[in-house]
Amino acid sequence: MAVPVFRFAPSPNGPLHLGHALSALTGFDMARRAGGRFLVRVEDIDVTRCREEHVTGIFDDLAWLGIAWEEPVLRQSQHFAVYAKAAQRLEAQGLLYPCFASRSEIEAAAVPGAVDPDGAALYPGLHKGLRPDEIEDRMRNGERFALRIDMARALAKATERLAGAPLTFTELDAEGVREVTEARPERWGDAVILRKDVPASYHLAVVVDDARQAITHVTRGRDLYAATDLHRLLQVLLGLPEPRYHHHRLLTDADGRKLAKSARDTGLGELRASGSSATDVRRMLGLS
Ligand code: GLU
Repeated sequence: MAVPVFRFAPSPNGPLHLGHALSALTGFDMARRAGGRFLVRVEDIDVTRCREEHVTGIFDDLAWLGIAWEEPVLRQSQHFAVYAKAAQRLEAQGLLYPCFASRSEIEAAAVPGAVDPDGAALYPGLHKGLRPDEIEDRMRNGERFALRIDMARALAKATERLAGAPLTFTELDAEGVREVTEARPERWGDAVILRKDVPASYHLAVVVDDARQAITHVTRGRDLYAATDLHRLLQVLLGLPEPRYHHHRLLTDADGRKLAKSARDTGLGELRASGSSATDVRRMLGLS
């Protein structure tokens, strides 16, 4: 059997905290137990929020945790052409359309209470079905646009590809027990596939890169569980292999909120400076 490949894919838009340590160590430990490979991927498509100092910080923190990864590390900001090309393949299937609407226009037109799994307003279809001449005019005027997926068409196309079988994904628990779950990408609505500001989106880039890095096991937090539905849809539409998933528990602060990058007391840099060791971090996380 081929060697399994695991990855940790942080976004360098802030310093790492204990939640990231849990994510990185979970993937690294699972890779080790499985005799697999372990990669780090820098997800820095958000060029305004990502900082070089955080990239350096990520490598320092991971090394301090005793994690080893393969070089070279893939940095998404160096591969925009690859994501744009994948989007073209979806476009060629008639599955994308341009959307010129601003966030405030979308929010104003949104159906109250209709939100995606991240809690953002579901796209109300504002620019779906714009006439070709209007699209051309707006483009000629230099209006910026995102490319959105036509979810209804995409679902129909996926059903065709799967010959009517349901769209599913396989979730492994920490002991490796499998559970096959039906994916419901429709709850994301006509999601953005190429953003207005950069020719990529998290969902597209993650799917493209997991495939080209031949990732067999995606380990990440439960906060991305629902995103897997959309990822599976894109994998089917782009003809990409299906990895297995493990979504680990999330760490919360004293008030039960998900840890934020700004939470100073749980920052890995702070823990290191105050004399904690990698063993201490593992103990705090309940990892042996
Ligand atoms: N870059 C994402 C984040 O830092 C994680 C992506 C993933 O693991 O799929 O939240």
